Amino acid sequence: MRLAAYGQSDVGRRRDGNEDEFILEPDLGLYAVADGMGGHAAGEVASGLAVDALAEAIHPSNWRPSEARADEAAERLHAAIRDANQRICDSIVEHDDRRGMGTTLVAMIAAGDTAVIAHVGDSRAYRLRAGSLERLTSDHSWVNEQVKLGLLSDEVAQRHPMRNIVTRALGSRQEVQVDVLTEGMRPGDVYLLCSDGLNTMLTDEEIERVLGTHAAVPKRACGALIDAANERGGEDNITVIVISVS
Ligand code: CA
Repeated sequence: MRLAAYGQSDVGRRRDGNEDEFILEPDLGLYAVADGMGGHAAGEVASGLAVDALAEAIHPSNWRPSEARADEAAERLHAAIRDANQRICDSIVEHDDRRGMGTTLVAMIAAGDTAVIAHVGDSRAYRLRAGSLERLTSDHSWVNEQVKLGLLSDEVAQRHPMRNIVTRALGSRQEVQVDVLTEGMRPGDVYLLCSDGLNTMLTDEEIERVLGTHAAVPKRACGALIDAANERGGEDNITVIVISVS
């Protein structure tokens, strides 16, 4: 199985700065998107700390993706995210002006034929398989809790004024709860990791259409997704990673 991947981040049309970060290490089979929050540039500190912690945990000197087992990858990803959380918490204690900073994280490790995906917060992983898009992660957000309780529809949640409230983030408490899932990869699959600046501007149907059109060329898919989100208003930073399996 061969993976082709590309990642791109865009400030959008309304924000002054970009607090998103991403990491793309095809040689290690490591991909992640982090969406930072917190004023005075602290958001980008938090997302930067998160991707740095991941990069250090999944380092070429101690990680051979071709030989990696899925359970080993899951364990390592989990440990790396706990470490990222600790670094952000420590940084808040050391710097008064970073109080309240945090970040979401969605990360994927390709271990052999398995995609190991972990997330905290409302950054998402999707998969396009045989032309249809599937949301693999469930947002840790207030609006998604309402959706799960049947109190809001997905459509209303997408535009809801409280859609930015996340119920889990790195940096908000010492113990972080991480959701980890494993998915068998098949040739033709396309995996998408994104920050909410994409999926609050576009519906899943629109993402499916754009991704489906450009699935074979991840770079073109990233550009088209970002363009589409900006055409809709680009209200937030937009970050996408597209991974095509062949
Ligand atoms: Ca965001």
